[in-house]
Parts: sequence; C-alpha cells; structure tokens
Amino acid sequence: MESGALVEIRDLAVWYRVYGGLLKVLDGVNLTVASGQRVGIVGETGCGKTTTMKAILRILPRNAVLPRGEVMFQGRKVLGMRGRELQELRGQGVAMIFQDPTAALNPVFTVGQQIMEVIKYARAGGGPRERRLMALSALKEAALPDPERIMENYPFQLSGGMRQRVCIAMALATARTLLIADEPTTNLDVTIQDQVLRLMRRLVQEKGTSLILITHSLGVAREMTDLVYVMYAGTMVEVAPTDELFESPLHPYTVGLLRSIPKLTGGGIAEGVPGRIPNYADPPAGCRFAPRCSRAMAICSERKPEFFDTGGVGHRVACWLFAAGGGAVV
Ligand code: SF4
Repeated sequence: MESGALVEIRDLAVWYRVYGGLLKVLDGVNLTVASGQRVGIVGETGCGKTTTMKAILRILPRNAVLPRGEVMFQGRKVLGMRGRELQELRGQGVAMIFQDPTAALNPVFTVGQQIMEVIKYARAGGGPRERRLMALSALKEAALPDPERIMENYPFQLSGGMRQRVCIAMALATARTLLIADEPTTNLDVTIQDQVLRLMRRLVQEKGTSLILITHSLGVAREMTDLVYVMYAGTMVEVAPTDELFESPLHPYTVGLLRSIPKLTGGGIAEGVPGRIPNYADPPAGCRFAPRCSRAMAICSERKPEFFDTGGVGHRVACWLFAAGGGAVV
C-alpha cells in the first residue's frame, strides 16, 4: 500500500458467471488515487471502467466472481468487509454519479425524499430541516431551476437531463472524501455539461475531495484531471500525468485512441483503432490488445506485459515494447 493513498487497487480480477461459462472482464487491474487527486479513466465502452468502480464500493452484481486482487480504501481492505463495515465505508463521504439516472433513482419516491435519505445515510446532515436545506442547496448547485418544486416531483416527471442533474446533486451533497463520476455528462447538452464539470471541479478544489472520472471523452479527461489511466479490455495499459499522456502517449492503444479524436481543422477523417474489444469468454492469453496491435511481437500473445517504467515521472506502460525501461526496444 502506497502511503497517502486514498484508494488502492492491486491485481484485481472480476469475472461474471453467465449462462454457458465465465466472462473474464477484469484481468489484474492496478490503480492508485491519492487524497485530493483528480484521476481520469479513459477507454472504449465495455473495457471494464464501471466494473472497477463498482468493486471499490462493493456494489458488483450477484453473478460477479473475484478470483484475486485487493481493494483498499483509506488503508482498509474493502473486499472482505461485511454488513456494518460496509455501511461505514459508504458513510465516509464516498459518492458515485451513475451513467444511467433512470436506473439510479427510485420511481416511487419524490426527488426530495431520495436526496434527504441519501444525506441521512451518508451522515452528511443533522435533523430533517437541515437535510432539506442541504437537498435544496444541492439542487441549486446542480443548476436545476425551481428546486422547491423539483423536491416534490417524482423522477418520471423530469426530463433525462434533469434526472441526471438530480443524481449529480445527490453526489454533491454527500461526497466528502471521494466522488466517482461515471460518464456524468453523457445525457446533458453542452451548456449544462460545462456547468456540471465546473461544479465538480469546484467541489474537488474547495473540499479537497478526490475525484475518479470515468469518461470516453479525452477532452473532458484532459480538462478535469491530474492523472489519467488508459484502460483496455479489463487491464490498465498506461498511466501518466495528464499533460504528459496527451503530449507523449506510448502504448499503441493510447496512440490510436488519441488519433481517433476528430480534428476541427480538418486534415482527413480520424484514424481510430481498427478492430473490436476481445470476447471476454475467451480473451487472448498474453496482451489483450495483441489482435489489434500493428506492432505485436511473438511474446505479446504468450505473456501478459506488466507495467514498465518509461523514464517520465509517474509514466508507466504495460507493453513489451518498453520492457527494457526508458523507451521502446523496437
Ligand atoms: Fe502491442 Fe505487444 Fe505492446 Fe501489446 S504488448 S500493445 S501487442 S506491442
């Protein structure tokens, strides 16, 4: 465990039991988040970003199997926690904004009832009056018009964008140590996206809250984070301080991902990364990116690469091209 780490994930594997076998979704994920740090996780849809975050909060579905690995929160082992310990963990100011607000909200309770219940559960407010004021203030902060009325509304009475902002308000009211935001701006229009991102940035700065931002938008990651992990098919393939990652990407997948950003100035269509994420029921034995990698070597399909240092401070890459350290060997 690194000293000062708020969250540390070591060699985490998560599989899902499905009809006819196992989907080996996470394959040895490593991740460290320091107190007050803003960390981005980028990668294609289906690469395991959300599963990794659900493991931190221990909210994985019942068919999940964890064959190896550990998740530490403030130095405590999360995976072995039961009942009361888990309740305490979730009461320590950890909040998550989910991608799908419809699934995250209960249709039979009003917005106000749900926010106040979350505040009570997270031990973030005192009595009912204080909880109501906190809920109203969070709705206002999330740029929702007429918060008094919205408190009395049921989720089905709101638009998709408004429901997402209610989820954001809930997280803002309770996140004190860690805010996990899973594609928080997907359903919002550009103006509201900007407001929400500014709000999250302010929360992190003013309260010293750590942020884990899951996004497939490289622009959002660049704007919002200090450190970026690039994830591919259930493994972290590169980690670097944000500016360095965007200026000097090393892993062939990261390079492809950055080339897939459309250019405003023209210059042809974005190149992207040809091919698809592998089948998790039968993933490649070595580097999971090998079937799509134009630089693959014999060792790549035999052995999974570990993280290698690259010479840049905090810049590491899981690719055999960098096995010698300090630069590519090919
Ligand atoms: Fe490509 Fe091999 Fe590096 Fe994987 S380990 S990204 S296959 S060169």
